[in-house]
Amino acid sequence: MKKVVKFGGSSLASAEQFMKVGNIIRQDESRRYVVPSAPGKRFSGDVKVTDMLYDCYAAAVEGQNFDDKLDMIHKRYQEIIDGLNLKFSLDEDFETIKDNFSRKAGQDYAASRGEYLNGKIMAAYLGTEFVDAADVVRFNDDGSFNDKVTNDLLSERLSGLEKAVIPGFYGAKEDGTVVTFSRGGSDISGSLVALAVHADLYENWTDVSGFLIADPRIVKNSKSIEIITYKELRELSYMGASVLHEDAIFPVRKAGIPINIRNTNAPQDKGTLIVESTCRQSKYTITGIAGTDGFAAITIEKAMMNSEIGFCRKVLQVFEDNGVSIEHMPSGIDTMTIFVHKDTFEEKEQKILSDINKAVHPDHIELESDLALIAVVGRGMKSTRGTAGRIFSALAHAHINVKMIDQGSSELNIIVGVRHEDFKNAIRALYEIFVLTQL
Ligand code: ADP
Ligand code: ASP
Ligand code: MG
Repeated sequence: MKKVVKFGGSSLASAEQFMKVGNIIRQDESRRYVVPSAPGKRFSGDVKVTDMLYDCYAAAVEGQNFDDKLDMIHKRYQEIIDGLNLKFSLDEDFETIKDNFSRKAGQDYAASRGEYLNGKIMAAYLGTEFVDAADVVRFNDDGSFNDKVTNDLLSERLSGLEKAVIPGFYGAKEDGTVVTFSRGGSDISGSLVALAVHADLYENWTDVSGFLIADPRIVKNSKSIEIITYKELRELSYMGASVLHEDAIFPVRKAGIPINIRNTNAPQDKGTLIVESTCRQSKYTITGIAGTDGFAAITIEKAMMNSEIGFCRKVLQVFEDNGVSIEHMPSGIDTMTIFVHKDTFEEKEQKILSDINKAVHPDHIELESDLALIAVVGRGMKSTRGTAGRIFSALAHAHINVKMIDQGSSELNIIVGVRHEDFKNAIRALYEIFVLTQL
């Protein structure tokens, strides 16, 4: 049995958290490859080291004195080192980082130091070999990720090591220039390591007991999901459930390696198992609920639009030409509505409206902004009748006006559009009807 274990920022924010992590790793011999993030928030309102590094580097680029900012970062690490009683110093590393910031080594390099330094502490604490991700995670010259070379480099390097610590979030181009994934990218690094070593399981340790049915910041004490398929997870992640980076599932999914989301602060909890497929029914009709705020809807009305060949294509072309991506497109007989992200749309609003007028001469265009989309996701919905009806009645009961409802053809999800101010209450109402009343 071989496991890859990734620990998120809050799991490694202090010496105390490191000790919990140490216990978790030592408890199971098969936890052989460790992928740490940078130290995250120790308490609400605290700043993540990654954000401190971005800020410090921005000062360096502007030619300001950044000594104090870098010292603050050094202090964060020193507190961890002292709290763990390690005879280990990062002084030389900080000298190098200071030089590299002065010669403007790049924003990605700056951010990557968060994971790099935490990885070094972790390796010293566990007495395990440190493998610099810059040597084994490869990006192409144009900055895109190279999965093939990465897999070769990682498997070759790790095949010779019984155990190792590989920092998350970054890699490098062939010439050594450091490149990071997008924010939260240590999840991807963990997945790449799991693929390269043919792990039996990829454990992703965070600060919640698995993937919860609803965002814990909206629904207090939300129950967690025991088992979820990759497809369901993708729907929920896409709609804003941000427990795991969206791109983290691709490498392991291909290789059939399950992911287990676990809680560093409650290691006795089983967490959530993410698998390709399962015959295990979820406890409720739905598996999870997720939502995102900040959409705008453009409703185009034209009598007989359905018999006008090419109508939809012409409308869609306008959005494509203006570089705005479309999120959803519910339609009626004489209307079609396009949901887009408000921020990208707003800049180009007038141009898009005029282009639509020119392209299809509609009778009327209506705009509505400040909308939220909520996805109710579940493999069990296919075999259960009346799910949409229950969604409507739950929302009506909570006095929430449904702006749109759209069922994916796979019957894996139903998307509901509501006004921004109803967003949180809508999620709570849906949670209540499907989970608390166990319908
Ligand atoms: P890490 O630093 O360990 O990578 P993240 O902050 O990236 O952790 O992800 C965990 C956080 O995701 C939780 O603390 C929680 O606030 C948030 N979250 C959003 N939606 C959900 C959900 N459906 N289930 C669990 N956590 C969620
Ligand atoms: N430390 C990085 C971030 O804050 C990467 C990660 O935590 O996964 O985004
Ligand atoms: Mg994360």
